[in-house]
Order: sequence, then structure tokens, then C-alpha cells
Amino acid sequence: MKLLVTGATGYIGSHAVLELLEAGHEVVGVDNLSNSSRESLRRVEALTGKAVPFVQADIRDRGAMAAVLNAGGPADGARAFDAVMHFAGLKAVGESTEQPVAYYENNVAGTLSLLDAMESAGVRRMIFSSSATVYGDPQSVPIAETTPVGSPSNPYGFSKLMIEQILRDLAAADPRWSVALLRYFNPVGAHSSGRIGEDPQGVPNNLVPYISQVAVGRREALSIFGDDYPTPDGTGVRDYIHVVDLARGHVRALEFLVNAGVGQTDPSGQSPRAAGDQAPANCPVWNLGTGRGYSVREAVAAFEKASGRTIPVRVAPRRPGDIAACYADPTLAREQLGWEAEHGLEAMMRDAWRWQRQNPQGYEG
Ligand code: NAD
Ligand code: UDP
Repeated sequence: MKLLVTGATGYIGSHAVLELLEAGHEVVGVDNLSNSSRESLRRVEALTGKAVPFVQADIRDRGAMAAVLNAGGPADGARAFDAVMHFAGLKAVGESTEQPVAYYENNVAGTLSLLDAMESAGVRRMIFSSSATVYGDPQSVPIAETTPVGSPSNPYGFSKLMIEQILRDLAAADPRWSVALLRYFNPVGAHSSGRIGEDPQGVPNNLVPYISQVAVGRREALSIFGDDYPTPDGTGVRDYIHVVDLARGHVRALEFLVNAGVGQTDPSGQSPRAAGDQAPANCPVWNLGTGRGYSVREAVAAFEKASGRTIPVRVAPRRPGDIAACYADPTLAREQLGWEAEHGLEAMMRDAWRWQRQNPQGYEG
């Protein structure tokens, strides 16, 4: 299949491009490079020996997106692309609280413009990067897809919730569309080659990139945001998932949409509704997590073991908006996609460390 991947030079996008190429698909990448480096896709090309045409464009530029989506279509008028994997978006939680309009504009308005361009090109299949943040502070863990969405604690989370709703409404209104909503838990790690990985700009917001930068000497100590949560050791518990497993989940979701004929118009012309709930069957939702939660202290210990380095820590106040524990019930993805995470915490930390050690300053180093 031929895919357009938005956010292709970013952390998860670059790993997904690699897995798509390895699975025999063809990819065109789009990114505005606001939070990533062109170098990531060059390395993907080197690793796979395959070319990835790249267009530097903003998803909010509807004309540019329509041009990309229509370009290179076969002469017989068939669609140029089979699907769009949509990773492009701003993702810094704290920044979203300071600049809510910029986040809604980029993420929500950007997705609307992309959808419009897709419609104009007759490309009506999308795999969307959502987040476990849409569950808000859940009443209980593990979290299954049947858990009602909650109230995210920041504009970034709301932007994901809004986009999910837009996509669900679109699928319900038009049976030709098929959309997979993938709710990620905590993606970490890097490709095992150490050639591509997470390269945050400035001070990392997330735990594993921060630990990695402490290990490599770029930061002094990790602040543990609260050790008085109702968890076994008092620190926050999360479901860390290896980015390569996550990327493979996207390939499975794509194959599911295509092979199950999701989104093909049925004779009645109605969007098929899933039994027992309001979600249209042409807009399935899957959690992508391991089902296992680890505390901040456990994550630090695993990183220390993988790297052989000591990570100095200090306990700091809780971070506003954080919840005590969040981990997935990944049963649905296993049953429907035949997908489950293969890498454990040790492999995640080993690969995160290899990437950081080999690229201490990220792609620009
Ligand atoms: P990332 O910042 O590395 O990648 C996102 C990419 O999108 C970047 O390369 C950026 O330059 C690009 N981009 C942003 N706005 C754009 C625009 N208007 N037009 C074109 N390109 C644009 O982030 P990531 O971690 O790879 O995340 C990918 C997706 O997954 C995002 O939508 C993010 O919200 C979502 N997600 C990430 C996590 C996580 O922890 N990393 C968790 C849940 C969901
Ligand atoms: N965390 C921490 N120190 C940091 C960054 C994160 O203690 O410098 C904790 C955070 O409070 C949470 C966990 O690590 O319990 C994962 O945070 P991250 O920001 O990586 O992901 P989130 O689950 O918030 O999306």
C-alpha cells in the first residue's frame, strides 16, 4: 500500500515509517519540521535501503496537502494514496496550557484541513495518533477502550479528544471513511540500531528522555514529581511501551482497516454501527499499551541497570495534572489486531540508552 505519513520526521512517525517500509509498504513523508529533524528520515532510508520522498509542509496548508495527496496518482484516476497515518501535532502538555490557542489551531484546525484535503483526493482512510490522556483520571486501572473518556487536564489532551470526536462524527456521517483511533500509553525507547530515537528540543518533559540526558551528563539529576501517590512506592505508575511495538501496532491497524473492509459502503449506504455502543464500526478504537504499569522509581532502576550509570534523583512536588496510575487493558488490540507488545522494560531502557549514548546531542550532534 502507499501511505502519506504526517509528522514523519518526528519520534513516533520516523519509527512507523521504518516499520511500514519493512512491511513492504510505500511511504511519502510530510512534516513542517517544527519539532524534528530531516535527518531522521535520511537514517530510515539508510537503515531500510528504501527511499522516502519527503515534503516539507504544514498540515494547516490545505492547498499543499491536497497537492501532495493528489500528486503521483496513476493515470487511470485511481487514488494516489491508500491511507494517511496522521502523527503531526504539538505534544508538550505544559506548553499547551500556556498557549492553548496555538495547540487547538495546530492540532484541531490542522487535522480539519488535512481531512478536507483527503476528501478532495478521495483518500478516506486514516490512522490517528490519540493518547491515553483522553481517559482523564480513570476510576480504575487497567483501562479498557470501553472506559468512558474523561476530562483531560490540559489543552493538549482536549485537542486529542476533540479530534477523536470529529473523526467519529465523520465516520458516522460517511460510510466511505475508515478511521482507526489509536490511544497510546507511554511510548519510550528507540530503534535497536540506535540510529533513530527521541530528540526533544530543550528540557525534556517526559521521564525517559530526561533520565537519558542525566545519564549522558547533559542534566544533573532527575526530579521525581511526587512520592506520595497511592501507589506501591508512592511514585506515579505508567504503562511504558517500546516505540517499535507501537509502530508495529500502526501497521496492524492499517491492515485491519483494509482487510476487514472497514469503511466500504454497504448496500444500504449507512455507516455500520458497532453493536452495543455508539461508536461507528468504521471508526474503531484501540489502546496501544503493554498492560503492565511501572513506577518512576522502577523505571529509574531499569535504566540504571541497562546503562550501568547511576541516576541521581531528588523528590520534587507533584506535577500539576499528573495522575497516580495509568495502564492499559490491551486485550482488544490482541484479539482484533493480533498485536501485542513484545519488548519489556529492560529492552525499552537498553534501546533508549543506546540511542542517547550514540547521539548525545540528538540528530544535531
Ligand atoms: P514529535 O513532536 O516527535 O512528532 C510530531 C511531528 O509533527 C514533529 O516532527 C513536528 O515537526 C510535526 N508537526 C507538528 N505540527 C505540524 C504541522 N502543523 N504540520 C506538519 N507537521 C507538524 O512527537 P511524537 O512523540 O512523535 O508524537 C507523534 C504523535 O503522537 C503526536 O500527534 C502526539 O500527540 C501523539 N502522541 C505522542 C505521545 C508521546 O508520548 N510521544 C503519546 C500519545 C500521543
Ligand atoms: N516524571 C518525573 N520526572 C520527570 C518527568 C516525569 O517524575 O522529569 C514522572 C511523571 O510524574 C509521571 C511519569 O514520570 O508519573 C511519566 O511522565 P511522562 O511525562 O513521561 O508521561 P505522562 O504519563 O505524563 O504522559
